[in-house]
Amino acid sequence: MSLKADLYLNRTDPLRYMRSNDCEQCGFSSCSQWLEKLKRGEARLQDCPSLEPGQSHALQVFLSLGQLLPDVEITQHPVAGATGRLEINEPGPDSPLLVTGNAIQTEEVVLAVLSTTEAPFHLLFVDTQGHTVDMALIYRTFTAEAVVKALVGSGLDSLLSHKELIIPGLAAQLKSPLERMSGWKVTVGPVCIGELPLFFGSGWSRPSEKKSQDTLNSVGSMDLPGSGSERGTR
Ligand code: SF4
Repeated sequence: MSLKADLYLNRTDPLRYMRSNDCEQCGFSSCSQWLEKLKRGEARLQDCPSLEPGQSHALQVFLSLGQLLPDVEITQHPVAGATGRLEINEPGPDSPLLVTGNAIQTEEVVLAVLSTTEAPFHLLFVDTQGHTVDMALIYRTFTAEAVVKALVGSGLDSLLSHKELIIPGLAAQLKSPLERMSGWKVTVGPVCIGELPLFFGSGWSRPSEKKSQDTLNSVGSMDLPGSGSERGTR
């Protein structure tokens, strides 16, 4: 059975990421009223002068994720996807590094969200034995040790010009031990993957149609467990 991925989108307040000052220039009495109208198609993004162009795209993406996200299989058991490093949009040494677990559902959803931007990223899938991050924290497969092991195996240390990684918000408790063990700066990202466009704001640049399709196609070209090799060079 497959269902639309639930990313806690309803629990995310996009106004946290805006300079929301209830200035009423949009014609509504508050930012929250404008947002509610926007969700119903009764207001326009361009009516808020506080939104920068990139922010506007990020908010538009966030509000359309309900339709964009893929249906994911609901399974009794965790299903492991690939581990290791994946490059999104030809990242350079200074591109951000996102870290998450290797549940197949997580991989599908992360790649769907990243297909909405042409901003470059390094992605590192930690071996959580196929558990999503929330369950991996309970089963202790997403730990500081597991992240360090993935980091060392990825070769990112010598590829990047920075030493900063972004972990899922649910794993905030790993920040201190991970910084101690790795020597890297650890930034706690959003709880919900769908919040990433808002988190990066104006950095979430609009993709060309081709890049969007290429990113989604990369789901099918990933090295899956049993294929003989970990993804270590992509
Ligand atoms: S114009 Fe923008 S900042 Fe001002 S009230 Fe409307 S949504 Fe809020």
